[in-house]
Amino acid sequence: MAEETIFSKIVRREIPADILYQDELVTAFRDINPRAPTHILIIPNTLIPTVNDVTAEHEAALGRLFTVARKLAAEQGISDNGYRLIVNCNQHGGQEVYHIHMHLVGGHALGPMLS
Ligand code: 5GP
Repeated sequence: MAEETIFSKIVRREIPADILYQDELVTAFRDINPRAPTHILIIPNTLIPTVNDVTAEHEAALGRLFTVARKLAAEQGISDNGYRLIVNCNQHGGQEVYHIHMHLVGGHALGPMLS
């Protein structure tokens, strides 16, 4: 059994976060350390530590990350100019919190993804 992170506590609203969206599968909240004018994290409500732990039973929740990203991007007014969706995996991928999360980043032009 993987160890819970602070993100599970955010899902259960046990610690504060600026939650923008929540349903039975996913929760979206503003990143505490935004790297762009819009920086939102969208996470499955159940703990999946990394992409390496993904199975077919997670497809509904993980698919929902994209539909919620699309909805939030529209609400934030960044759809037309564009934005970036990022999922980091493990140490070399730069993952710090071991509860899968999609970063929705935008609001200004972003640099090249790989450098
Ligand atoms: P990672 O590097 O794992 O892909 O990204 C983790 C993200 O979670 C970081 O951008 C970090 O700022 C954010 N983060 C870490 N702890 C908290 C927290 O307690 N609340 C919120 N809202 N964001 C957090």
